[in-house]
Amino acid sequence: MSTPHAAADASSRHRIVVIGGGNAGLSVAGRLRHAGISDIAVIDPNDTHYYKPLFSHVAGGTAKASETMRAQADVIPKGVDWIQGSVTSVDADAHEVRLASGATVAYEHVIVCPGIVHDWDTIPGLTDAMRSPEGASNYELDLAVKASALLRDVRGGTVVFVQASGPASCAGAAQKPMYTTEEHLAYDVLLVEPPQSAPKWIGESGLASEPGGFVDVDVRTLRSSTHPDVWALGDAAATTNSKSGGALRKQTKILADNLLSVLSGREPTAHYDGYGVCPFTVSRSTPSSPSSTTSDDSPPRCGARPTGRAAVRGSSTAGCSLRSTGT
Ligand SMILES: Cc1cc2nc3c(=O)[nH]c(=O)nc-3n(C[C@H](O)[C@H](O)[C@H](O)COP(=O)(O)OP(=O)(O)OC[C@H]3O[C@@H](n4cnc5c(N)ncnc54)[C@H](O)[C@@H]3O)c2cc1C
Repeated sequence: MSTPHAAADASSRHRIVVIGGGNAGLSVAGRLRHAGISDIAVIDPNDTHYYKPLFSHVAGGTAKASETMRAQADVIPKGVDWIQGSVTSVDADAHEVRLASGATVAYEHVIVCPGIVHDWDTIPGLTDAMRSPEGASNYELDLAVKASALLRDVRGGTVVFVQASGPASCAGAAQKPMYTTEEHLAYDVLLVEPPQSAPKWIGESGLASEPGGFVDVDVRTLRSSTHPDVWALGDAAATTNSKSGGALRKQTKILADNLLSVLSGREPTAHYDGYGVCPFTVSRSTPSSPSSTTSDDSPPRCGARPTGRAAVRGSSTAGCSLRSTGT
């Protein structure tokens, strides 16, 4: 179990700093530590680590909310420091990360993997729809718990499953509870995969190729194209794969191998081929695992019809359109 340093008194220096203790950050930190690298720190603000792929199963009624959670202290790899804080910027020229507390953390190399942001407010009415009795999502745990009860209990009308049209974590994951729900025919629910984007501070720190962009990396080596001591993987990296935990299986190894090469004075030669996989449960007992090595980020299409009860006005997403209802 790792004891966190409080961010307020954590102005410090580490050889490797990992921003984000999610799937990507924990995996790459563990792999580097296992390879003998010491003085690694993971920065993450949260006491609780969430395993997001299970959120779909919570929504679909096949997993409990408690199964998705672990204490962050228990999942930080042994021998790795945890700085409990929220990063607000990276000064890549000064080799320094700034935290919301005002503390700074200096680094030799930084690995940027803070995940993706859910932009609920970019679709007018969507936040209100999520607060309505019929609105739910598998992208936030509280909404997934709500979805589970809605999909279990409702018995008339139409169910609309909406998936994001832009970059998304496990694009199309809204379909998963749809397949398990179809088996007991529920109606009159809106289940939404929200629009998603990169954390704003990435672009503001000059780590993206455009404002609001994901971390600009060489898509083969996962090293920044402009700052050689900056690396990125996971949902926050501007890679060409479909964003998923499955992609991390390859990305983590490639990034760790390349960083280990650089730390020992060699060139990074391991190449990521864009592999991604996002398993789908197409019924309560049938898994399916579409994988690819292409740059095609378009999610599987959703065949649901527009609903007469959804509370989102005039918006559309891949595969499903919503219309105003007056509810
Ligand atoms: C509903 C859903 C279903 C999914 N299903 C699947 C699936 O079936 N299969 C699959 O392969 N993938 C699935 N995924 C995708 C998978 O969960 C992600 O691709 C994966 O978690 C990405 O890992 P990550 O570390 O980049 O981001 P995350 O796991 O989101 O971790 C990001 C971490 O960064 C931290 N952080 C955020 N901001 C800051 C900051 N400013 N400073 C410091 N730390 C910060 C967060 O607290 C978090 O711990 C699903 C995702 C969702 C949402």
